[in-house]
Amino acid sequence: MSNYNNANAAPANEMLLLKLGELVLKGGNRRNFEDKLMSNLRRRLKVFGEFNIYTRQSTTYLEPKSESCDMDGVCAAVSQVFGIAGFARAFPCEKDMDAILETAKRCAGPALERVKTFKVESKRSDKRFALNSIQISQWIGGELHECYPHLTADMHRPELTVTVEVRDYAAFVHLDHVPGAGGLPVGMGGRAVSLLSGGIDSPVASWMMAKRGVALEMIHFFSFPYTSPEAKEKVLKLARLLTPWCGKLAVHVVPFTAIQEELRRACPEELFTILMRRFMMRISEAVALRCGAGALITGESLGQVASQTMGALRCTNAVCTLPVLRPLVGMDKEEIITVARKIGTFETSILPYEDCCTVFTPRHPRTRPSLEEVEAAEAGLSIDAMVAEAVDHIERIVFPI
Ligand code: ATP
Ligand code: MG
Repeated sequence: MSNYNNANAAPANEMLLLKLGELVLKGGNRRNFEDKLMSNLRRRLKVFGEFNIYTRQSTTYLEPKSESCDMDGVCAAVSQVFGIAGFARAFPCEKDMDAILETAKRCAGPALERVKTFKVESKRSDKRFALNSIQISQWIGGELHECYPHLTADMHRPELTVTVEVRDYAAFVHLDHVPGAGGLPVGMGGRAVSLLSGGIDSPVASWMMAKRGVALEMIHFFSFPYTSPEAKEKVLKLARLLTPWCGKLAVHVVPFTAIQEELRRACPEELFTILMRRFMMRISEAVALRCGAGALITGESLGQVASQTMGALRCTNAVCTLPVLRPLVGMDKEEIITVARKIGTFETSILPYEDCCTVFTPRHPRTRPSLEEVEAAEAGLSIDAMVAEAVDHIERIVFPI
């Protein structure tokens, strides 16, 4: 039970105020989005203890049940939960003007040192409190100004707003919201299988689709002994780095060597990459259908390499019936790297282990393969059996949140 309505309760613990993102635009479906966000938050915050989470007047409150909660850890975790546009730490105190001022200094002091303009905004839901909201703002604003004489009050475009809330059971002070992860709660956008290599792009692509609410299953094609156990470990590490954003992740590791050797033996070298990518898509689709996923995700970006031209994408798409989501398709490498740094995957992605694609790279890959010639090159292969053999030997590794 929340102590929100309990007028006799002692001042509450420090809490977070959450601003929900795009899900506030959802009409009749909004409740489902909120419920999903709450359950994602609870799961993510379980290691920090138990929380009351409730919504009042379009603000969502996240209140730890115990006083000894690691709020720095909670803030770091909340900033990785999709569906939250921003959040602020709210510091509780007695409903007494001196106590509110002390709390405002403690909460806002360091930030006030760094700005030139500020304002105090107050909300009074306890109408029995002696001062009204304008009087609270004026008094706290005046006192803060005395402590920090370099400040100017600016009611219209302040650099910092100090907000005081006087509620039934306590008063609170908080600053502006800091940005959250944005997007939609993971799970609301369906499920997709994401092709995860050890490179820079595919972790970013996975993250971008999780941001749109897609729950992920990862798939990795592993070419032992052409690629090393360290290369596989690197991919698993990337998956683990994504779990704070994406929730629990399963990685399907597909033994890919036999298929690559068969392609090298039986097909023209210049088509090798495109043929290999078609097998990746076929196997990924088989896995997607097994685990109830409705799409595939890749880290392809138009024109980045020979296998990512429009003609090559046509050839890879031709073997799938599911939609292939390519969130990086219009992004430059520099833009992708900026995201990779932000989400914490870049340093791992650039570790120098080979990928299965690079091991067999043709000397002169075809940039404009026609679908007809690609299909002709595959004509002698036992495609279904090759796919089934690989799918049967998948190793599934699960990373809990
Ligand atoms: P990345 O940086 O993600 O490795 P890339 O620019 O190296 O991408 P390619 O090697 O052509 O591009 O791969 C294109 C996409 O195919 C990748 O983004 C990824 O989604 C998928 N992919 C490539 N290799 C693998 C693999 N070994 N296992 C799973 N998916 C892969
Ligand atoms: Mg790659």
